[in-house]
Amino acid sequence: MYRKTWMEVNLDAIYDNVRTIKEHCGKKFIAVLKADAYGCGDYPVAKTCLEAGADMIAVSSLDEALILRNKGYEGDLFILGPVDPKDIPIASAYNIAVAAISAAWVNQVCRLHCKGLKVHLAYDTGMNRIGFKDLATLHEAYDLLLQSGCSIEGIFTHFCNTDKEDRSYTDNQFAEFKKAVASLNHPFQWIHCDNSDATIFFEDEISNACRVGISLYGISPYTDRLKPAISLYSEVSMSKSIQAGQSVGYGWTYTAQKDEMIGTCPIGYADGFIRKNQGRYVYVDGMMCEVVGRVCMDQCMIRLDHDIVPGTPVEIFGPHISLETMAEELDTIPYEIICLISGRVTRRYMYHGKPVNEITPRLNESL
Ligand SMILES: *Cc1c(COP(=O)(O)O)cnc(C)c1O
Repeated sequence: MYRKTWMEVNLDAIYDNVRTIKEHCGKKFIAVLKADAYGCGDYPVAKTCLEAGADMIAVSSLDEALILRNKGYEGDLFILGPVDPKDIPIASAYNIAVAAISAAWVNQVCRLHCKGLKVHLAYDTGMNRIGFKDLATLHEAYDLLLQSGCSIEGIFTHFCNTDKEDRSYTDNQFAEFKKAVASLNHPFQWIHCDNSDATIFFEDEISNACRVGISLYGISPYTDRLKPAISLYSEVSMSKSIQAGQSVGYGWTYTAQKDEMIGTCPIGYADGFIRKNQGRYVYVDGMMCEVVGRVCMDQCMIRLDHDIVPGTPVEIFGPHISLETMAEELDTIPYEIICLISGRVTRRYMYHGKPVNEITPRLNESL
């Protein structure tokens, strides 16, 4: 890493979070590592989750599943999203479980040679994304998959609102799911419906596995027992004084009211630090500094209360500014902020309290 803009991923915290959640729910643990483990790096996070007792890894697509296989992961692997029926032989060949998403999908897949394919039935209880919408369709699909020699390993649904304060919709979704599972009377190895939030607050007596993504990183509105695992940093590459009346950045959107000290940081919207961050604060050497002027593609400017030496770290989020606070201020959710951290930002991994390695996805491709 030559440019000092990095995301710190604390694998010790992820390890502890898996243990804490698994102990809390007392079920099998599916670590949801889609989108390169929410931007944190699929392989190091997978390895940590498995060490901590995760039983399966879930990703969103066949591409993501194959990336993990190519990196050497041989354990249970499940794709949450749709896989094109024509690509099913690849999933089979790599021993990857897939979601049966609709009657049309099942018909197509069963016309192929799908003997032995591992399948989880997706039952749509109100999200209206993927899955069978009623019991009759579910049963037809089940019969067809069974006749075709598929291995029906699992059944799952997904809640669309896991707000602890407003549980009526979730309760209803859960009741539908319970009915579906009972009606099939099949020895499913995997019965799952709870994402992070539901795993933490929703008492559910039907599922035998939780499906946890965001809380791996210590993010949960429902418990303070988890440890924050991700922080984002840049540095001040230079500082300068400007005089009252001078403007900063594209489009003169910020003009100094008095003489000020301005620092420049090598982070911009191409790193996922979106333009909406203008006017928000970052943490530098004991000060909260406002991001002034437009955020550029590769750099941004901040107002300093006192001069600092070039190279001083800038915390975008971390111990002083939580990811949750940043998300709230940007009118979004923590998921979106971390998934947008781009491939040119270095991932620095902490393990057993020490930095162990650095990966810059965009640079490593070319090495
Ligand atoms: C992303 C996803 C999850 C994980 O959700 P979190 O809120 O991050 O725990 C679980 N299940 C499905 C189907 C998902 O798409």
